[in-house]
Amino acid sequence: MSNLAQRAQKLFIQYLRENNLKVTQERLALLEEIFSTNEHLDADELLARMKVKKRKVSRATVYRTLDLLVQCGLVRKSRLGHEHYFYEKVQPGKRHDHMVCTHCGKILEFWDPGLDERQRQICQEHGFRPSFYSLQIQGLCGDCQKLEQENTFL
Ligand SMILES: [Zn+2]
Ligand SMILES: [Zn+2]
Repeated sequence: MSNLAQRAQKLFIQYLRENNLKVTQERLALLEEIFSTNEHLDADELLARMKVKKRKVSRATVYRTLDLLVQCGLVRKSRLGHEHYFYEKVQPGKRHDHMVCTHCGKILEFWDPGLDERQRQICQEHGFRPSFYSLQIQGLCGDCQKLEQENTFL
């Protein structure tokens, strides 16, 4: 496990104990899975990964655990152009926004400090104190634009 994953596990166990929730192997395994990848996973993908690792985890446990991980700030939940949510680990000090290809589902991450600063200014100008922020750009990725030009776009 990476340092980030170990730290996250410690925080999660602490969070569970503080809220009188059971620290179970299933919950820890889900956390470990999310922190072992840079991918954006949905609940079904997580279930499939647990199955591959021969871990018995119910769908209800997956959803419940994801909610807890989001609540304690270790996991980020985004809609990413679909009707359901995707989950990814939170890396402190490493914020990013998303571009989502509406054709192939590819997710590109980007971060622009200038953009961040500008948003801070805009909030200030409106006397608004931001607590949550989300930016997502939907469109076509480079590969899909090529397919479109080659007329092989389905
Ligand atoms: Zn694409
Ligand atoms: Zn992301």
